[in-house]
Amino acid sequence: MRVLLASPRGFCAGVDRAIEIVEQALARHGAPVYVRHEIVHNRHVVESLRERGAVFVDEPDEAPPGALLVFSAHGVSPAVREAAAKRGLRTLDATCPLVTKVHKEAQRFAREDLEIVLVGHAGHVEVEGTLGHAPRAMHLVESVEDVARLEVRDPARLAVLTQTTLSVDDTREVIDALVRRFPEIRLPKKDDICYATQNRQNAVRDLSREVDLVLVVGAPSSSNSNRLVELASKIGLPAHLVESAADIDPTWLEGVERVGLTAGASAPEVLVEQVIDRLRSLRPDGFRVDSLPQVDEGVVFQLPFELRQAQ
Ligand code: SF4
Repeated sequence: MRVLLASPRGFCAGVDRAIEIVEQALARHGAPVYVRHEIVHNRHVVESLRERGAVFVDEPDEAPPGALLVFSAHGVSPAVREAAAKRGLRTLDATCPLVTKVHKEAQRFAREDLEIVLVGHAGHVEVEGTLGHAPRAMHLVESVEDVARLEVRDPARLAVLTQTTLSVDDTREVIDALVRRFPEIRLPKKDDICYATQNRQNAVRDLSREVDLVLVVGAPSSSNSNRLVELASKIGLPAHLVESAADIDPTWLEGVERVGLTAGASAPEVLVEQVIDRLRSLRPDGFRVDSLPQVDEGVVFQLPFELRQAQ
């Protein structure tokens, strides 16, 4: 069996930064450090931080007054920040800078009195945070059907924003439908798209030309990991999301000689290595691992000012 690794895969700069913020908070302030929501959508990462003293909570009022609370990479609404301040919590913000950029655009559009159409998945924690930045100006749409049902105040004063972990391809149909219905709508800037989501999808596309099956390491709650599975399926390949090596069903490998392997932006490389070991144990004959040419994404996000200052 041949395993072909996608490149890039796994951790993006926003996830690296969020994990480092919690690690540095633990090192500087000691346990417990409270974290609102899973810091990134990966059980392995969450469990390892929990063992070192991170306490994961859904809302600020679950942390005792005076405690240190970290906001996750997905971002929070201003209402959550206010609740944390009211509770007397110290806070560190691990919101990915690409998500913060969308929050700022939402506020700017609202100040210009534009209505905003947010393309994203209802209930996703990033979407909740973004909606909260301009609650009176936002409409959430998930599909072309939602666009057809949309009722707006003034079709000439509209702007679009997107959930960062949807790629250009994911949103194209919905945005095309918006433009057909509202020709004057202000479209998102090209650099609103998360580089990591797009790069990981491009790598799956490249990989798909050379394999019979695609495995994606990632959590069921990880939006970008699910999109990678969907993309491979759309291309016509069998594809599965695996949270860990134990999830691999040996029947998936029947008649398969070439497996493409990738990981969502919140999945650590150690899980990819464990998947390779399991594939090797299931199909040891002629087992070999190759990789697409290594891609250096060249993106690093700075830590928050408080941590840089302390360094
Ligand atoms: S996937 Fe993109 S938006 Fe999400 S944390 Fe990573 S870099 Fe930021």
